[in-house]
Amino acid sequence: MSKILIVAEHDGQTLNLSTAKCVSCAQAIGSDIDVVVLGNDVGSVASQAAALNGVSRVIAVDAAYLQHPLAANWAPEVQSLSADYTHLLGPSTTFGKDLMPRVAALAGVNQLSDVMEVLGENSFRRPIYAGNAIIDVSTPEGCLVVMTVRTASWQAADEDGQASIEQRDATGSAAAHTRYVGLESAGGERPDLQSAAKVVSGGRALGSEENFEIIYRLADKLGAGVGASRAAVDAGYVPNDMQVGQTGKIISPDLYLAFGISGAIQHITGIKDAGTIVAVNKDAEAPIFEIADIGLVGDLFTVIPELENLIN
Ligand SMILES: Cc1cc2nc3c(=O)[nH]c(=O)nc-3n(C[C@H](O)[C@H](O)[C@H](O)COP(=O)(O)OP(=O)(O)OC[C@H]3O[C@@H](n4cnc5c(N)ncnc54)[C@H](O)[C@@H]3O)c2cc1C
Repeated sequence: MSKILIVAEHDGQTLNLSTAKCVSCAQAIGSDIDVVVLGNDVGSVASQAAALNGVSRVIAVDAAYLQHPLAANWAPEVQSLSADYTHLLGPSTTFGKDLMPRVAALAGVNQLSDVMEVLGENSFRRPIYAGNAIIDVSTPEGCLVVMTVRTASWQAADEDGQASIEQRDATGSAAAHTRYVGLESAGGERPDLQSAAKVVSGGRALGSEENFEIIYRLADKLGAGVGASRAAVDAGYVPNDMQVGQTGKIISPDLYLAFGISGAIQHITGIKDAGTIVAVNKDAEAPIFEIADIGLVGDLFTVIPELENLIN
């Protein structure tokens, strides 16, 4: 009988949507689901986690040194709880990709990454080769399963639950070799790229950091998050936390608008689960048109102002 612990992702105030998606994955494994909320003064986040449908218990661990999600501090704390569980789950976001491998290493097991489907308590499906192939992976019976959940593959659990909240003392201490310096976020007030319902993305065709402003402007009019291709990141137009794709973020917005992006397989990997894909490209042969629901052959510098006029 499985007993599952999910590590909550949050910013100290708000529970990230990725946690609700992990709960859906956990429900496909079994019904005994706990969520651990690590941090400092996490009462409000713990309440949000307790409202997720399917969660039995929320374990809140408060300590000053846990305030920021440093994997070096959080992983030992998660590991200290692991003896009671058969499965430890985290999201395949930047947060989970940082934390869960450390948890797995401390537990002495391999990590299972990007679970997109649950076939059984010890049998899972995940993408490989940038999503070009899907593999079924079985874990040994009786062995702790530490895994990341491919958030784009799961719907968020509903928020009509009423789990109990249990306060626990932290068991560890601050790591001596790692300390929190600060957080720089490029997104400002815009929706988080990984949970935004709408995303506007730009590619190499934008040509400069200054020209990328028209992407931000359109996104703000639509209330959308902003993404970019790796070429745009490598050219320095935008910071790399905006990169969408195999080596960037895997996203599943309802609406994805791609401007001047060719549609290389590594980019497509990041948007496979998007609802509607709209592509604007000068080249009618661009591969992005093969997966776009709506394609427009045209110059983005003409199309975007026209779109903005329509929105006004
Ligand atoms: C291991 C590996 C991992 C990678 N990971 C990623 C990843 O995570 N994400 C990612 O995006 N890429 C990734 N890449 C890079 C990927 O292969 C492509 O090189 C990259 O996605 C290309 O970006 P782009 O479409 O912006 O640029 P380009 O391929 O140069 O395409 C630019 C497009 O803009 C169009 N265009 C030009 N001017 C205009 C205009 N005025 N109006 C409209 N359209 C115009 C052109 O027709 C062209 O189709 C990875 C590559 C490797 C090898």
